[in-house]
Amino acid sequence: MKKEFRDLLKSKGRRELPAVLLASAECAPLSKTGGLADVVGTLPKSLKTLGIDARVITPYHRCIKNKYADKVEHMFYFYVQLGWRREYAGIEKLEIDGVTVYLVDNEHYFGDRIYWGGEGEIEQYAFFTRAVLDALPNLDFAPEVIHCNDWHTAMLPMLAKTQYPGGMQERLRYILTIHNIAFQGKLSFGFAKDILSIEDKYLTPEFMELNGCANFMKGGCVFADRVNTVSPSYAREIMTDYYGEGLEGILNARAHEVSGIVNGIDKDVFNPRRDPLIPAHYDRGHRRGKAACKAALQEQMGLEVNPETPIFAMVTRMTEQKGFDLVACVLDELMGREDMQFMLLGSGDERFENFMRAAEYRYKGRLCSYIGYNEDLAHLIYAGSDFYLMPSRFEPCGLSQMIAMRYGTIPIVRETGGLRDTVLPYNQFTGEGTGFSFANYDAWEMRDAIRAALGVYRNKEVMDTLISNAMAADFGFDRSAEEYARLYLCAL
Ligand code: ADP
Repeated sequence: MKKEFRDLLKSKGRRELPAVLLASAECAPLSKTGGLADVVGTLPKSLKTLGIDARVITPYHRCIKNKYADKVEHMFYFYVQLGWRREYAGIEKLEIDGVTVYLVDNEHYFGDRIYWGGEGEIEQYAFFTRAVLDALPNLDFAPEVIHCNDWHTAMLPMLAKTQYPGGMQERLRYILTIHNIAFQGKLSFGFAKDILSIEDKYLTPEFMELNGCANFMKGGCVFADRVNTVSPSYAREIMTDYYGEGLEGILNARAHEVSGIVNGIDKDVFNPRRDPLIPAHYDRGHRRGKAACKAALQEQMGLEVNPETPIFAMVTRMTEQKGFDLVACVLDELMGREDMQFMLLGSGDERFENFMRAAEYRYKGRLCSYIGYNEDLAHLIYAGSDFYLMPSRFEPCGLSQMIAMRYGTIPIVRETGGLRDTVLPYNQFTGEGTGFSFANYDAWEMRDAIRAALGVYRNKEVMDTLISNAMAADFGFDRSAEEYARLYLCAL
């Protein structure tokens, strides 16, 4: 154990690191719609190497059942009282990559869709929250810290502290990690009272009321012992009214207990030296394989196969958060004037999907958009592209820019949240840097950053240095895990 941890433990009068249970709506590789799943899937593995017994509790979604049903061990079941509803909850256990995952089973709530949307989604995760609290005393595991993630599990501390007086749940410590403050779990007072038996006294601005609604995330921010988010810059940003989405008040009030920890990526999954999903392998010192990946990407996606033409790529949810309106604004100008190819993999808002379909028609052979979710193609894009575009309006952490750098693909990002904390802008005087960036949410600034990247692309020596710098950056999860261990210890 690190000396720092030993000292921290000593100051708390303890010898052991705390056991931790991560509660999350999704967990890779079992279920995944975005970065949250990656973090919850990877963090426990890294915590284990530090000596922390970290386990996960997550819904038993149909996608997990389809793949892992024969590996799952049934533990016990009980009934959850959700207002007037009495719902079955099975607890199943699965070992995956050395990590124990508890799965909460209910065919009705956890079927084909991880998120139902609307009020139904609130009910889905109110059920999950209640099931976790009711299951805790009977698990074959006694955590000291419950690590909640986003609004789906943000109500755990409030329910534990207000509805389980004297129980083991009340004595636990709760960490709430905000992966994206834009999603908060808002519901009417009536529904909050019905579904989770919330008392009137808690439906006030002091506790979980925000703008006339009950708000799960606010409840979490008030009752969790520590609140953190996924980058130091985002932690600062969400304390302002531009980024805080109404929660800046409570976060400012607890500023001394709010922190930011940059996520890491799974270096085994995203490894250009061994990745089974790419056609040729390479590393920082030997990059011929990257050229082969580029050719394969161009060929597979119907782009003109030309090693000289730079490929700009995006793998993303197509929402306003990801800066798609900026792309729509200047794409024609760029495609019309510059010698470049553009590749997009993503899905989301219909208007952006349609914009990209139409653009593909206009620039056949130079622009390709694959509308949908495709893990294999994502890896090929990270490996085969030259530049990775991420002009987000806000970005709590962002994993894609780190993955891109690991594959020697140079990120072009807006300086916000985790993008600002992970991409070092290229400095033409010192040669330092791992990418390109622009400050304001402005299409012309983004266009200029792309032009700067195109300029550097023509200078092979500088481009080589940039790629080498980007591939040398260490975004492994070990560093994040150490910071989380520190956070758990501080919360005890
Ligand atoms: P967010 O969690 O906000 O969507 P991140 O950059 O943190 O964004 O993480 C997104 C993750 O999901 C990355 O691993 C990215 O490669 C993956 N991803 C996003 N869209 C797709 C898609 N259409 N197909 C395959 N992978 C995708």
